[in-house]
Amino acid sequence: MIYEPIIGLEIHVQLKTKTKMFCGCAAHDQGVPPNTNVCPICLGNPGVLPVPNETAIRYGVLMGLALNCTIAAHSKFDRKNYFYPDLPKAYQISQYDLPIAINGFVEIDVPHGERKHVKIGITRAHLEEDAAKSFHTSDGSTCVDFNRGGTPLVEIVTEPDFRSSKEAKIFLTELRLIARYLGVSDADMEKGNLRCDANVSLRRLDDNGDVVGERFNPKTEVKNLNSFRHVERAIEFEIARQTHLWESDTPPLILTTRGWNDTRGITEEQRSKEEAADYRYFPEPDIPPLALTAIADEMRRMLPELPAARRVRFASEYGLKPSDARQICDDPALADFVEHVFSELDSWLRALPETEGLDEDGLIRERGKLANLVSGWLLSKLMGIMLERGIDIRTSKISAENFAEFITLIAGRKINNTTGLTILNAMLDDGDDPSHIMEDKQLGRMDDASELAEIVSRVLEENPAEVLRYQAGEEQLLKLFIGLVMKSTEGTADAAMTKNLLLVKLKAE
Ligand code: ADP
Ligand code: ZN
Ligand code: MG
Repeated sequence: MIYEPIIGLEIHVQLKTKTKMFCGCAAHDQGVPPNTNVCPICLGNPGVLPVPNETAIRYGVLMGLALNCTIAAHSKFDRKNYFYPDLPKAYQISQYDLPIAINGFVEIDVPHGERKHVKIGITRAHLEEDAAKSFHTSDGSTCVDFNRGGTPLVEIVTEPDFRSSKEAKIFLTELRLIARYLGVSDADMEKGNLRCDANVSLRRLDDNGDVVGERFNPKTEVKNLNSFRHVERAIEFEIARQTHLWESDTPPLILTTRGWNDTRGITEEQRSKEEAADYRYFPEPDIPPLALTAIADEMRRMLPELPAARRVRFASEYGLKPSDARQICDDPALADFVEHVFSELDSWLRALPETEGLDEDGLIRERGKLANLVSGWLLSKLMGIMLERGIDIRTSKISAENFAEFITLIAGRKINNTTGLTILNAMLDDGDDPSHIMEDKQLGRMDDASELAEIVSRVLEENPAEVLRYQAGEEQLLKLFIGLVMKSTEGTADAAMTKNLLLVKLKAE
């Protein structure tokens, strides 16, 4: 029997607003002492009135639009009642039957996956306030920090459309990127501003892949996964645990909630899951309903190009390989940089005499050649050097203008790969422009044929034994001669010219 995993995610994204969801307190808990960003409203004192944060509503709507959702014309807040120390009002202001956004989808690519291209349904996205944070001290007591209490969240609920932990992880990565492109959240799992619950069940398939029995079976919800690795491992563990239960004829019969224990690498039973009825949801009487049509129209106009569209455009417009386009677009700052580089290169390209008379297609082809240089030098070389130096594109001194100019020097064969690397390092050192560095350090490519010919002759004269061995058949010694020429020209010799001169001289000797 085949057991097919059925997975749905519930994701909390902390919105990057200045103030909390329903009061004027600062909405961050980083670097401030506990219980200092608090007021009677977020502490749940009696008699206070919550006022919704308009920016949070806009961010939520923006997120809904980016997830291809329908934005509700009318929406409202509800009270979700439960008792816990991190919830001073004993209810959370959330949204129940009229969330701000419904019925969306996100498409993902799954390299090497059983399903290569997957469309994940988005059931809904709603706004709510976060609970406070409780923590345990070394003397065994539990403390509550209310700084986080009342910060704005958008909760995104997916359809049970995932069939593997890998699909879930790729979706989460894409969701994080979308939030960053929108600028509505840092969506950093390690910092807790992206949190995920994973719902997992299994169903039996026959040999034809048809479902045996119920379409869906009772699920287990694994709570509060706070890293990508935990999400993946917890889902894998649940699949294995439930497979075992099915195989021993004791499949899960009720909804349950479990927690991920990362140290032990297992999920642990927490409690039977409350049904919606247990929360006694009812409309929040202190907040009027929201009319969202005007905001939705405004946000639709402000929607930036999203990662998926940008990848496609980078590949088609700039001629980048799809995998390079993906790598670049995975970092919005890097993508902006590359965009800028190509616009500089475009002006350069159009000014070249040999591109006069080229039509748009011809220019795109030429740009494709530059694209290979850009991705080669940026992704393989510059990124590597920056990594070693502990900097990234945001902190590096290389401007897009200078990097573009550097690419034109390589493309115009003014410098070779060896000197290119030297110049790139110097550019990182002090942000100077590459032509300056080239002249300053005399790194311009040496292609004066007579000068180079003299150096080639000298190298051969100084190594008579190797020349004899070469002539006796050890042709790999050519590399040694090229290396020696490069050495005596400090890497500036034109490689092709050097090789040709050597071949001619070696034959003539
Ligand atoms: P709950 O009553 O726990 O709120 P919902 O029906 O609202 O359940 O679904 C919550 C999440 O669980 C959604 O992400 C949904 O896709 C997922 N889910 C629902 N049913 C199943 C199932 N049988 N197996 C796995 N995931 C499921
Ligand atoms: Zn407050
Ligand atoms: Mg639900």
